[in-house]
Amino acid sequence: MQDDAVDQTVILCRACDMAVRKRALPSGVRALCPRCHTALYDTPYCSINGMLALCVAALAFYLPANLFPVLELHFLGSVRTASVVEGAMAVMSLGYWVVGVAVLTAAVVAPGILLLSILGQILLIKAGLKQGWQRTTYEWLLEQHGLLSQLTMLEIYVISFLVSAFQLADFSDIYFGVGTFCFTMLFLVTLFLQREYNLEHMWSYLDV
Ligand SMILES: [Zn+2]
Repeated sequence: MQDDAVDQTVILCRACDMAVRKRALPSGVRALCPRCHTALYDTPYCSINGMLALCVAALAFYLPANLFPVLELHFLGSVRTASVVEGAMAVMSLGYWVVGVAVLTAAVVAPGILLLSILGQILLIKAGLKQGWQRTTYEWLLEQHGLLSQLTMLEIYVISFLVSAFQLADFSDIYFGVGTFCFTMLFLVTLFLQREYNLEHMWSYLDV
């Protein structure tokens, strides 16, 4: 794993084929080939403070997004609400426990662990990655990152809320509550966070 990561940090100049080792760049800086001055790569995303802000914002939306109802149905005078967790539990109690576990994993557990993992990585970078345990933990978190980001599928749930809201709108009045707002915000902030995050660049912090 470590060898693969080192190989990925070496790139070839498009113009003169010189092998150049990728390094972490300060923001707004472009890397040029030392021999022919062709532009090699721009600053990757990964502004550490920017990611920290997005991460804290996402974690702030995380609990209300999962605990408050995302859909509120008013049907013939009765009011029904459902949060993401309640929805998954309801599906499981109907016997579709595989679906329930999948919903819990993709919409609740994986995004939560992903956010905590990125927060941990940022805090370790801020701490300087000097001690052995810091580097080991950081490496381990990076190795798990691919799996976690694949399991995180918030967008599917945002789409399914909208679809069910349109379908149910004929039969009952739909209200979106605090939970809907928080879940949508969680989705958006996580989207920006994952856009900002660059795994290859995160590995390069270990070289410095
Ligand atoms: Zn060159």
